[in-house]
Amino acid sequence: MLKDLKIVLIGGDARQIEVIKTLYTLEAKLFLIGFDNISLPFDNITRLKLDEMDFSLADVILFPVPGIDINGKIEASYSNNELIISKDFLSSTKEDCLILTGVKTPFISELLSVNKRKMIALFERDDIAILNSIPTAEGALMLAIQHTTRTIHGSKVLVLGFGRIGFTIARIFSSIGANVSVMARKPAHLARIIEMGYTPITAETLLEQVSQYDVCINTIPSLVLNAEVITNMNKNSLIIDLASKPGGTDFEFANKHHIKALWPLGLPGKTAPQTAGEILAHTIIEVLKDADVYAIQK
Ligand code: NAP
Repeated sequence: MLKDLKIVLIGGDARQIEVIKTLYTLEAKLFLIGFDNISLPFDNITRLKLDEMDFSLADVILFPVPGIDINGKIEASYSNNELIISKDFLSSTKEDCLILTGVKTPFISELLSVNKRKMIALFERDDIAILNSIPTAEGALMLAIQHTTRTIHGSKVLVLGFGRIGFTIARIFSSIGANVSVMARKPAHLARIIEMGYTPITAETLLEQVSQYDVCINTIPSLVLNAEVITNMNKNSLIIDLASKPGGTDFEFANKHHIKALWPLGLPGKTAPQTAGEILAHTIIEVLKDADVYAIQK
């Protein structure tokens, strides 16, 4: 299906290796940038430095899961060379070159405002976000076990947010015997929280309830664990903030108040890179099918 489709992968971590394997098996023509420190058991793939690539050849460009940072830097676990691109980076690409990224960062929006191209942020899709919640929740459980002195069974765990990650976190912690409370704002979510046997918490009740929890896991991407809430927390409680940058915790304040606060970003790539990579690869194939790659190649 992808035979001879020219795909440029720029940077990334162990997850990208699974993506490379899958795309290679499907006979795509791969150009790898930022993979100079890893031996790969494939022939017929081209490894290049950023300035060596002729981007006018690319049918698809794949950026890594975190996208591109505000300075145009792309994370590359398998390269000692910094990968930095400029805002007119897409000017040499074909107009129908498809841009894939994990998340859409402000820099990616700027790239697209300079040169309009079709872009798909893979993690905006429910399927990948839900599947990815499995390694994320397992990673959060691992951290909770490592950083507390009591079993999770019997512990009081508060999950902030009941979206794709919060839902899975609540279920996994509950399934090993934690007493789970979940904070949400939608009446339907609060009803579902009750139906699933968890204790519902709202923003209004958070302040008075927060002192009772051993572990507090945030999935809300805005400042919910602020100074006021942290002041009311038990000094022995553990915060695990899963929300992407800028996070949902006042870490400086937590630190001053001697409350341990972890901010483990990219957990799937760290705790289960193979599974996370397979999930990513599966989604990329689905996206390329939907995008009608034959049309791209013409
Ligand atoms: P999601 O499905 O959009 O869920 C977000 C939840 O936050 C929803 O329940 C939403 O409630 C709630 N929320 C948002 N703003 C709120 C506010 N101002 N007040 C109260 N509740 C609010 O997102 P997700 O897929 O679960 O991902 C959650 C976060 O985890 C994201 O930042 C994501 O990037 C991050 N993440 C981190 C890792 C990691 O390894 N650390 C892995 C995957 C994802 P409503 O439904 O009412 O809007």
